[in-house]
Amino acid sequence: MKTAHLSLGSNLGNRLGYLQKAVDLLDKHPDIKICKISSIYETVAWGLKEQDDFYNLVLEIKTTLPPKDLLQICQKIESELERTRDIHWGPRTIDIDILLYEKIEMEEECLTIPHKYLLERPFVTIPLAEITADLIVKGCNISLIAKTHKKMNEKCLKLPYEIKNNSLSSKNT
Ligand code: AMP
Repeated sequence: MKTAHLSLGSNLGNRLGYLQKAVDLLDKHPDIKICKISSIYETVAWGLKEQDDFYNLVLEIKTTLPPKDLLQICQKIESELERTRDIHWGPRTIDIDILLYEKIEMEEECLTIPHKYLLERPFVTIPLAEITADLIVKGCNISLIAKTHKKMNEKCLKLPYEIKNNSLSSKNT
């Protein structure tokens, strides 16, 4: 099994509901096992500012799927959850990005790993630092970048909600 990290975000409709459904669908997949779930953060939209705040989280998963197959599954789940692509970086029910896949580095139009904007997005670095220790990406320590992002005062608010996950709760009991 390979380790990968995914970023999930929603800013349309029932944001918590869409995050929960996406986690459920990923968890139901026979080739994906969810290992860690970060807190949920309420964050300002990145790129295209004039839209509602997002709820974001980061997952650590184990998978036997190669990167492009994993991307395909993520996109299938986005479609199942009524994700449309009318406006680039516009409002969406759910967005699932692959942040990291083991130590793989690849740069293709359909898939860039590590994710192209990983180090620039507080809504990624802050939850990623929460569930990983001393992670180095492109020579940068994610915890240090997350600390800098926290100081920037851009809204990235930890929410008192939790994603329910059967695999995780059975592992922890
Ligand atoms: P969006 O869902 O709008 O964030 O962008 C999705 C597009 O980015 C798709 O066409 C993907 O093929 C492409 N893409 C490139 N790298 C990644 C990645 N690491 N994770 C998810 N989508 C990616």
